[in-house]
Amino acid sequence: MRTITLTMVATVLALAGPAAAQQAPSPADVLGYELGEHFTDHASILRYVDAIAAASPERVRVERYGESVEGRPLVQVVVARPDYLSRLDGILAANAELARIETSAERARQIAATNPAVVYFSYGVHGNEASSSEAALYTMWDLLRGASEVQGVLDSVVVVFEPAVNPDGRERYVQWYRQARGAVPHPAPVAREHGAPWPGGRSNHSLFALNRDWAWLTQQETRMRLVTWSRWNPQVHVDFHEMSPEATYFFFPAAAPINPNYPPHVLAWGERFGAANASAFDLHGWQYFTAESYDLFYPGYSDSWPSLLGSIGMTYEQAGSGRAGLVYERNDATLLTLRHRAEQHRTSGQATLRTAASGKSTLLGDYAEFHRNVGRDRSDVLLVDDGAGRAGALVALLRAQGIEVERAGRAFRASTEPHTGFATRREFPAGTWRVRARQPRGLLAVTLLQPEVTLDATYSYDVSAWSLPFAYGVEAHSTRGTPDAGWTPAPTASLASAGESAASYGWVLPASFESWQPVTRYLRDGGVARVIEEAITVAGRELAPGAIFLPRMGADSFDVRIARAQLPASAIPVTSGRTTAGPDLGTGSAYTVRAPRIALLMGEGIYATSAGAHWFFLDHTLGLDYDVVDVRRVSNIALRDWDVIVLPDAGGSAVNEDGRKALEAFVRGGGTLIAVGSAARSIAAPIAGIEPRSAPEHPEESRIERALRGRQAREVEDFEEGVPGTIVRARVDRDHPLGFGVGTSDGWLYVLHGGGSVFEPTEDFETAAYFPADLQKVSGVISERNLQRLSNASWIANRGVGSGNIILFADDPLFRHFWYGTFQPFANALLLGPQL
Ligand SMILES: [Zn+2]
Repeated sequence: MRTITLTMVATVLALAGPAAAQQAPSPADVLGYELGEHFTDHASILRYVDAIAAASPERVRVERYGESVEGRPLVQVVVARPDYLSRLDGILAANAELARIETSAERARQIAATNPAVVYFSYGVHGNEASSSEAALYTMWDLLRGASEVQGVLDSVVVVFEPAVNPDGRERYVQWYRQARGAVPHPAPVAREHGAPWPGGRSNHSLFALNRDWAWLTQQETRMRLVTWSRWNPQVHVDFHEMSPEATYFFFPAAAPINPNYPPHVLAWGERFGAANASAFDLHGWQYFTAESYDLFYPGYSDSWPSLLGSIGMTYEQAGSGRAGLVYERNDATLLTLRHRAEQHRTSGQATLRTAASGKSTLLGDYAEFHRNVGRDRSDVLLVDDGAGRAGALVALLRAQGIEVERAGRAFRASTEPHTGFATRREFPAGTWRVRARQPRGLLAVTLLQPEVTLDATYSYDVSAWSLPFAYGVEAHSTRGTPDAGWTPAPTASLASAGESAASYGWVLPASFESWQPVTRYLRDGGVARVIEEAITVAGRELAPGAIFLPRMGADSFDVRIARAQLPASAIPVTSGRTTAGPDLGTGSAYTVRAPRIALLMGEGIYATSAGAHWFFLDHTLGLDYDVVDVRRVSNIALRDWDVIVLPDAGGSAVNEDGRKALEAFVRGGGTLIAVGSAARSIAAPIAGIEPRSAPEHPEESRIERALRGRQAREVEDFEEGVPGTIVRARVDRDHPLGFGVGTSDGWLYVLHGGGSVFEPTEDFETAAYFPADLQKVSGVISERNLQRLSNASWIANRGVGSGNIILFADDPLFRHFWYGTFQPFANALLLGPQL
């Protein structure tokens, strides 16, 4: 392995052109060590790219487009031929024409003949998959010195390198590794340097896997990057990853299931790039695999999202990851080195550049043709806005994705097909939203909004459904052709405004997540809110149980606090405490809500992404104060300082026996414990006497047949035992405080369910949401047996224990922080839990 690598480098050096080698310093010149001797920290990555930009300003440009959560610069490094770089804006403007529907085939041919293609390489989205950023520096240098492997490619392509997509995660890993290693790196897998502590370097600061975030845009790194996408409009995007150190190397073609929405040219190019990579690897005798493990179904990946915009989006996976360190001894006794890992990524990058360069006119032509035809023969989607803020939040996400959304200025009639679970309708009110399929990002829009994307396989690497109308609980319909209804581009959301006299008694807000966000700002500002248990009619508006009343009570600071809270347009100013139906605003049947004192449990055993989603939700989405507490310390510290303790999704060992006892004592003493997903399952019985429901027994008559079934049948059945992330409907008790404002107005909450875990309902506890009898799936993959298991089962369980109470969610309601519909019951648990 090592011999091959050294020989190759020697050849490369010998062939480097004398003219090209003139200026650009090598990474070793700048960093002081050779490839693979050390992990390069982020500051040093920046030092290198700045050094080549200073040495070769005519061929290298560094663009700082944003910063990570921890404040590290996010950079794109453009490497191009001098005459291209000097007129980069013109080249990108012509390139952008190819991404427009109206660009003619003839104009596209002209551009394809004269313009270079744009290739975008992303490295290190998972921060501990650390070889890729090393490869990035060397691939840039290869281009600058005119290495034989990439000779001439800059005549046909402009290359955008993003050497560290997730700098915070990379630093977490690299700095830890430096601390953990000794004088000599140790290859034994059991050595400490091969086992990074929780949470590892994979995720960004907020513990999100950025590679899953493209479609949901929850993280600032993703959002800032997407803003730049329409500048580059790359024809090729490669995301360089790492997988198990025992594996080999993966490149395209991808594995099944392939999302049926994928443009055919993307799949064909995946084959072509893969064949070229295979040839390059064959030359070295390096092992690799294609069409296994890494599928193309979920739309939020860095290969799938660009593909839905007509780019050839691909993932390359190198053996390595956070376990591999500088050198790792594999099961077959070979040593996997950082140098070799980086060389393989460097080689696949070079091969990809050659393939893109040799086929650039076709690449550009295919890209233009994709956009000319995008959305033809596809349905538009109509979104009906019930005023509860969910439709507005969905529209805001679509617009952030660069998807055009229009609003009907007047009512209209249309023939439509409702999304699963919604009633047929012909009349659509003014204010209905329309998302056209025939727009530059129409295929992305269709993929995110259609009720179901058919999964033609029993296995999926990720969730099997994500349809956003269900995630947001918004009534949606598919339609071909809508009449003129005064369609106008979506306006930005407006805020409530009313003079002091119009709100002389205070403000009332409907129960909704749109209301909780400003109300928590108001609570943190020292305000007090009252949540009314029953339905009321106030100022002509009928409000469901859970309306939030912010009383003025003569406070001088009231209007200032209200202004700072930024109430949504759905807030109602009131001049009197009398209602026209239901109890008055001063009713005794109201919960007085203050900002709760919250402890969030994190640390070893908690699933890092779930911890991150909860952390981010408290910090940014709901904006509540909290303390992060290490889960291993709960039995050693006084828990009574908090009103609410939140236990994110976790393995069964996250809370040990002493911890469980401490949490139970906290609840008995008056605290509220909220637990989600597997963590809820593991503490339900010991603390609350709530039993998780397990899979039904197989019938006795099939026992022998089952025991004799083959391996494939076992694997299929194992897969069916789990639920990979499937949309089903839960019935909500909208009179229960946990159900206030949850789901659609007729009481259905769409849930992304994974794993098949639910609670057995009994008389001893309350169920605020449950899966009904004869449960049917809404979207995605689930077996009949699992549908039976989930039927008539509790999804949100609430039980008083001692003077406190426990609230259990069968799934993580904050999963990846994109399922907006389940934010509301979780917010209810945090804010109303202490009152139950
Ligand atoms: Zn990865």
